[in-house]
Amino acid sequence: MRALPRIGCACTRCALPVSGPAVCGACLKHPPPFSATVAALAYAFPVDRLLQRIKYEGRLALAEWAGTALALAVDGALALRSPDDRPDRIVALPLSAARQRERGFNQAREIAVRVSRASAIALDAPLERMGEGLPQAALPWVQRRVNVKDAFAVRGEVTGARIALVDDVMTTGATLAEASRALLRAGAVCVECWVVARTLPP
Ligand SMILES: [Zn+2]
Repeated sequence: MRALPRIGCACTRCALPVSGPAVCGACLKHPPPFSATVAALAYAFPVDRLLQRIKYEGRLALAEWAGTALALAVDGALALRSPDDRPDRIVALPLSAARQRERGFNQAREIAVRVSRASAIALDAPLERMGEGLPQAALPWVQRRVNVKDAFAVRGEVTGARIALVDDVMTTGATLAEASRALLRAGAVCVECWVVARTLPP
């Protein structure tokens, strides 16, 4: 996996590249609701193609690769922390019921299952996605937060939980931030994001 695009030195909060301190200026100024982000790779060729093949072509065998890449990155990140600073459950970012039916699978769940197995952290599914709005990929970055506002409901018990939210790609982080807010409002102690790839700003 050496040839795949990596981020290098990254902000612990949002996983964007930083040159100096561990948390970037943007996160210090406007802290996101999630407490950390682990991103295995940069969303660039060929990682973008591989992840698109899972999502749009249903190439689920590639989810094994994606899950392994993420599990390795998570393992490295958790090794740097104290043992009590560790999520106690993994939650895949859900699709809406309509999109799940249309696609037949949720790529985030396919990846999360593998990370759960590798990390021995239980998988849970307390989140429900109400509507999808427009696909985030179709929108300019500035509209993405509005598009996902109140998109999630919490149906399970998350009081006191330390949650790792898993998705394939973090682009602006708007969807993961909205899901994090919903979980925190429902009583989760903290939420962090684990993603296979992070889109770097243009
Ligand atoms: Zn940051």
